[in-house]
Amino acid sequence: MNEPLSDLYFAPTGIAHLTHTNTDLVRAAARGRAQLRVTTAAQLNGHPHLGTVTTILAVFALTARMADELNLPATIIFDSLENAPAEHITINDRHYTRTVQDLVDGGHLDGTERSSGFRCLLSWASARSTIAWQERPYAVYQELLPVRACLHAIAQRQHEFAPVLAPADGRIRVRPRCPACHLVEKDAHDLTITAGDHVVLLDSACPHHGPYRETIPINDTGGWYDANTPVRSVQKAALLTAERDLYNACSISMDGPDWGGAWFSHVIAPALSVLDVPARDWPISLFTPMILDRTGGKLSKSLYVKYGREYADLPPAFLDLDLLLDTYGDDALEALWQETTRWAAEPRRLHRCYTVDHLTTLLRPRHLGATA
Ligand SMILES: [Zn+2]
Repeated sequence: MNEPLSDLYFAPTGIAHLTHTNTDLVRAAARGRAQLRVTTAAQLNGHPHLGTVTTILAVFALTARMADELNLPATIIFDSLENAPAEHITINDRHYTRTVQDLVDGGHLDGTERSSGFRCLLSWASARSTIAWQERPYAVYQELLPVRACLHAIAQRQHEFAPVLAPADGRIRVRPRCPACHLVEKDAHDLTITAGDHVVLLDSACPHHGPYRETIPINDTGGWYDANTPVRSVQKAALLTAERDLYNACSISMDGPDWGGAWFSHVIAPALSVLDVPARDWPISLFTPMILDRTGGKLSKSLYVKYGREYADLPPAFLDLDLLLDTYGDDALEALWQETTRWAAEPRRLHRCYTVDHLTTLLRPRHLGATA
């Protein structure tokens, strides 16, 4: 391992005081379990940037550390979200989308181009950490029994879930798509959700093809629906809860820090309570450090694309994994891997943010090329 950098300072933080190692965060939940089962997710909406790359490397580094300290086998499930919106259309002031997968199926997007960066990164991290990984497409995820049972519970108790899942307007976004043209109405103005006997009925309307109904059987496959982020992440918490017993596993979600803090306290925790999941059965949620731009905001590829150097004067390779790898090879990943293993090894390093300039210091100049 490289020498720790001397220019970092660590403010005292509560959780770092509470733990001797990061494994302490999962120790009780792992007791008596046969394996660690870790999930993480990403939208397949392009080339991963440096923030996404470090998040995924940190997930493997943390999993490897915990598997080693607990002496348990571990698997990482990568939820690839091919249901991410890839086309946005406004019709009569309503917002409609089509998904990445529908555009790939229609020949409008290159599926390999959408996913190759992620698969390359996951394969590299798996080989480096010796932790196995599996990909789970959204089409598979949305059919799983615990995920659909959670959907049914939400449909049955919409008045209880609406303030949690849609605090601004009360419209819970569970989105079917038009069977003829696959348009999805994003903001659920035309949506009616009905809980039937072991079935959820989604009634909506297409601006071109009129009203339609999607039938979602709870105990069976078939039918398809998109769910917005709060609905999907509550379903994921329910799935991880169920997987504790399905796999005799310690279920852990590891994600970027957007999904901790306010998200966890205002969405996930209240929803688990409404679902009547006792605290002892809650899945463990861990969050990787946030990568900050120079103003203290989350490093954002979309802001870089929109504002360019005005937003951040960064090497283009920072915003595109394919470019980082094509140009500078695996050395750059190895340097970032060494850093994320340090995060995994020490609570004070895991529970903090890092600036993009800090990551720059880890990469030798030949990794970075000329500034754009
Ligand atoms: Zn249609």
